[in-house]
Amino acid sequence: MKIPAKMRTYCRKCRSHTTHKVSIEKTRQRGGGRSKGQRRKKRHTKGYGNKGRYSKRPISQRSRTSKTTKRVDLRLKCETCGKQWARSRPRAKRVELIR
Ligand SMILES: [Zn+2]
Repeated sequence: MKIPAKMRTYCRKCRSHTTHKVSIEKTRQRGGGRSKGQRRKKRHTKGYGNKGRYSKRPISQRSRTSKTTKRVDLRLKCETCGKQWARSRPRAKRVELIR
């Protein structure tokens, strides 16, 4: 999928259509392991007792699918005021910016 490196779109700060610089958002490391489900899983998997396995089917029976495409996030930067935000795009195997 080819995406123009500059696009004209609405800026919420300027409240009008302005030119934006487009770049591809890189994946960042997320802080994890603090949610309720994560804590519960941690409690289950240590020590004695049922580790929550019997409520699940064996791995061979679980439906697993792997996706061949990725959803891409674009980072838009307003050239007038400098405000940045991310916008997601449809799934694509490969994304390149056209100068
Ligand atoms: Zn702006």
